[in-house]
Amino acid sequence: MQDIDLGAITTDRIRHPRFAPPGIEMEMLRLDKIHPSISGNKWFKLRFYLEEALRLGKKRVITFGGPWSNHLLATAAACRQIRIECTGVVRGEKPAVFSDTLQKAAGMGMHLEFLDRRAFRANKHPSAWLDDENYFIPQGGYGLPGVNGAATITEYMDPLGNYTHILCAVGTGTMLAGLVRSARPGQRITGISVMKNNMQLEDDIRRLLMPSDIPFQLLHDYHFGGYAKCNQELLRFMNDWYSHTGIPTDFVYTGKLCYAATDLSQQNFFPAGSRVLLIHSGGLTGNVSLKKGTLIF
Ligand SMILES: *Cc1c(COP(=O)(O)O)cnc(C)c1O
Repeated sequence: MQDIDLGAITTDRIRHPRFAPPGIEMEMLRLDKIHPSISGNKWFKLRFYLEEALRLGKKRVITFGGPWSNHLLATAAACRQIRIECTGVVRGEKPAVFSDTLQKAAGMGMHLEFLDRRAFRANKHPSAWLDDENYFIPQGGYGLPGVNGAATITEYMDPLGNYTHILCAVGTGTMLAGLVRSARPGQRITGISVMKNNMQLEDDIRRLLMPSDIPFQLLHDYHFGGYAKCNQELLRFMNDWYSHTGIPTDFVYTGKLCYAATDLSQQNFFPAGSRVLLIHSGGLTGNVSLKKGTLIF
C-alpha cells in the first residue's frame, strides 16, 4: 500500500473571476493529495493518537464512525501502515451490503463491529473492549491530540503566503481548532459547518482551545440540507469549480467550502487585497456514493 506523501501537498492558485474576483487572491492547500484513502485532514488529526498508541505499546486501536466515515477509512489505512490492529465501531445495525467506505476499511484489515444507534450515541461499549491493550480514538479524532496534529497543517502552508483569511470545512471542529491554535496574529479563521444547525459546535471548539480565547468564526448557512446532504446546485457548482480550477471536491465537505468561499467573495466578505487560503481537507472517496456520471471528475 502507498505511503503518506507529504511532499505531494501543493498550494494551487485559484484563477477565475467568479471564484477569485479581482482584488482577492485565493489559493487552496491540497491536503487531499497526500494519500488516496488517508486523505487530507484525517492523517493530521490521527498522527499523534497513533504515535501515542505505539509508544504505550497498545495492541489495538478502536475508533468510531458512521458507515461513510472518512475517519474510519483513514484509521484503517493508517493502522495498516504502522502495523497495529484496529477495530472500527460503526453506528447502526450491520447492513446487508457494506458501504464502499466500509468495504475498503475491512479490505485494509479493519475489524468492524456494529452498534445500534442508541448504544452508539450513549457510548455504550461492550465491557470486553475495556482492555488495557486497546487504545481508543474518539469519533472524528475529536480531542487534544487531534488538535495538536491539525495544528501541524500550518507547517505545510506557504510561509510567504501572508494569508489574511483561512477557510475550512467543519465537522467536529478538531481541524479548525488546530488551525486557530497555530494561526498568525490577525489571521481570520472561518469554518463552514457542514451540518444543519449544529449550534453546539462553537462550544465544542472552545472546549478544545481552552484556556485560549483566540477568535474564530463559524458559518452555518452552507450545509445544503445537512450532513452529507446535497442538491443539484451544489453538484453543478462542484463540476463548474472543477472545470475552471482542475480541483476535485467532495459533496460532504470541500464542495460546500468552495461554494461558501465563492459566495462570500461575491458578497464582499473579503476586503480588497485579501489573501484567502482554502484548506482542501480531502474526502474525495465519499463521492462514490453519488450516482455514476453526476460528477465530471
Ligand atoms: C472529517 C473531515 C472534515 C472535518 O474535520 P473536523 O476536524 O471533524 O471538523 C473536513 N473535511 C473532510 C474532507 C473530512 O473528511
